[in-house]
Amino acid sequence: MMKTDVHEMLIDLDKKHFIHPTSSLKQQHESGAPFIFSSGEGVYLTDTKGRKVLEGMSSLWNVNIGYGRKELAEAAYEQMSKLAFTNSFSSMSNEPAIRLAAKLAELAPGNLNAVFFTSGGSESNDTAYKLVRYYWKLKGLPDKKKIISQKKGYHGVNIGATSATGISPFHTLTNSPAPDFVHVDTFSIDSLKACIEKEGADNIAAFLTEPVQGAGGVNIAPEGYLQEVRAICDEHNILLIADEVITGFGRTGKMFACEHYSVVPDLLLFAKGVTSGYIPLGGVMVTDAIHRELVERSDGTLLHGYTYSGHATACAVGLKNIEILERENLVENSRLMGEELLNGFKELQMEFDFIGEVRALGLIGAIEMVHPITKQRFDSFIAPRVSEEAAKRGLIVRTVVFEGMDTVVFSPPLIINKQEVQELISIMRAALAAVQ
Ligand code: PLP
Repeated sequence: MMKTDVHEMLIDLDKKHFIHPTSSLKQQHESGAPFIFSSGEGVYLTDTKGRKVLEGMSSLWNVNIGYGRKELAEAAYEQMSKLAFTNSFSSMSNEPAIRLAAKLAELAPGNLNAVFFTSGGSESNDTAYKLVRYYWKLKGLPDKKKIISQKKGYHGVNIGATSATGISPFHTLTNSPAPDFVHVDTFSIDSLKACIEKEGADNIAAFLTEPVQGAGGVNIAPEGYLQEVRAICDEHNILLIADEVITGFGRTGKMFACEHYSVVPDLLLFAKGVTSGYIPLGGVMVTDAIHRELVERSDGTLLHGYTYSGHATACAVGLKNIEILERENLVENSRLMGEELLNGFKELQMEFDFIGEVRALGLIGAIEMVHPITKQRFDSFIAPRVSEEAAKRGLIVRTVVFEGMDTVVFSPPLIINKQEVQELISIMRAALAAVQ
């Protein structure tokens, strides 16, 4: 079969049989998937038509070490050949899960030393909400149940995570936010204080925040915010949960984004970059203090666990992925190339009068589209057109077009080099010029 015939056949089967996640089902059905990818190498993907594109988003902010890493395939092969999977219920265990838990304890800030494994970010979130409620119940404070999170925060799509998500269109499929979920203004200390006053600290289990909001438009916590949040949580006996599902594993130029603020949360959620997307894995890290309380006070079975919690093959891949991150100094590369990226954004900002704020921390960044005169958002969104023009020219980016935002977001693999950053910027320049 010719390449184009194979492509057409796949488009057809895709339309008929594959319900795509977080997609316009109608659009997929009418126009077909814009790309069907078949291979990847470094920061590039190739599709079934033979087109090569620069992945400006590391897929979904997660392929941190880039594509085509045989070492990860070998780690999975080796583990699968020996012992692909065994469950971790009833205190059974396996070596990769133990070793990965210990490695994560070494990497995470402060005394975040114990891990509950999940298969992804949504599960990590729901797990955390249950763990904090369990913790307070064991401490004799069962009323401390509320989870306070932020507007524009994204925490996933399970029922709990959807409720904590502060982007209202996500709430339409569930009757959410569910009871005991409350949202405060993004990075606003006043709003948090007012919320605690209104809800009562005795009813609040935890405050949940992304140090850098990803899906909400790459909003970076201002200096001092997290430190103040930490102090408020301590004062009111509220646990602090950092959702580092996107920001973990070097994305922001530090291993974990909390380190930029010298804050240690009580719980840290991770997924995505822990395996660079080569296999699903996530988890919740808790401090020694919380772990100790859970162990000492627990009165029976912790009735929360996924079949794949501590999946041996996923954990073996996670270990190899972290080994590569460290061996190749990719966290430092993220910091350095993040500066290049931000410089590139600033050049574009000088060249195009409809670019508003630009920002980046490590290799996560955003460019906002605004009307050149009013500096307000355009009546119709520009970012999706920019993204479309970029894709035509061989660059994948994402857009955030809700809650008043008209933003193009970026999150390239941490292995990106100077030349590839320049390529990304010059494609963006052409895409911006095309919508001008
Ligand atoms: N938390 C954050 C900050 C995320 O960005 C995401 C996904 O993008 C999630 C949680 C949900 O993760 P998953 O899609 O793996 O369930």
